[in-house]
Amino acid sequence: MIDKLTIIGVGLIGSSLSLALKQAGAVGQVTGFGRNQQNLARGVELGVLDNFADSIEASVSDADVIVVAVPLGAMRQVFTALKPAIKQGAIITDVGSAKGSVVTAARAELGALFPRFVPGHPIAGTEKSGVEAGFASLYQKRRVIMTPLPQTDQDAISVIDEMWRHCGSIIEYLSVEHHDKVLAATSHLPHMLAYALVHQLSNLNDHEEIFRYASGGFRDFTRIASSDPVMWRDVCISNGDALVNLIEQYQQELDRVKAAINAEDADELLRLFGRAKSERDSLIGNC
Ligand code: NAP
Repeated sequence: MIDKLTIIGVGLIGSSLSLALKQAGAVGQVTGFGRNQQNLARGVELGVLDNFADSIEASVSDADVIVVAVPLGAMRQVFTALKPAIKQGAIITDVGSAKGSVVTAARAELGALFPRFVPGHPIAGTEKSGVEAGFASLYQKRRVIMTPLPQTDQDAISVIDEMWRHCGSIIEYLSVEHHDKVLAATSHLPHMLAYALVHQLSNLNDHEEIFRYASGGFRDFTRIASSDPVMWRDVCISNGDALVNLIEQYQQELDRVKAAINAEDADELLRLFGRAKSERDSLIGNC
């Protein structure tokens, strides 16, 4: 049970966490902070927040646990602002989609408080943003990857581990580097492909007609291109090396498909599609 929780960045991820903890009876009071007071007032109306503060300092001064749920590019300035105001023994965690950049910022800005910082990433989300998008079941049976460092306090890790278990999550532990490599492949690259495809098609002269006849497959493949552009800009910048490497591999894959089509190499196309189908069927099945 967390007595006083502060959420900085009350959007999809932060508000869903609050709703899940409240539903589980695992939190006392939830305080919010963000730049937009209307958003925070809406959070109180929706039962996401019990109250909100008009400065980061005021929002964290009494908190036992502080969850930083802002876009990756805003993490550093939030760490800088909260550091002088937090109470002794408080725990800080984050939910950022890339971990290397967040850990670097936390190490630089939190200084002696760095052992109280537990980096984390819930592998759950939708293409929607903002406080209105939050819902209590978002983290049910979804993985949360924690990437603590050797110097992270064990008691702080235990509190954040338990917080996510109250949300129905499955907890896994990875190194920061491994997390960023795996997530570049499974999450960050697919978002780049969806954005690039929609962008490519929207540049065509007859793009309105093309989108009118879009099939279910197109909708499935491009749903994530409706995700928040600020969030994904920040992910690209934060995890650029791993992502560029995978984009280059993907370009080689497309070149293979192009060469097989040009050569009318039916066997090669069948081999490629057959292998991809059986891999996906066995790894992901119908989930
Ligand atoms: P979101 O719905 O846009 O919420 C982010 C919130 O942060 C906004 O409500 C915004 O409110 C606030 N904010 C932005 N800049 C701020 C700043 N400088 N100081 C204080 N508050 C600020 O985004 P989200 O999807 O919840 O994503 C939040 C974090 O979760 C990101 O780090 C993202 O990488 C991570 N994440 C996202 C997903 C996903 O699928 N969406 C999944 C896992 C992890 P104001 O405009 O009122 O400031």
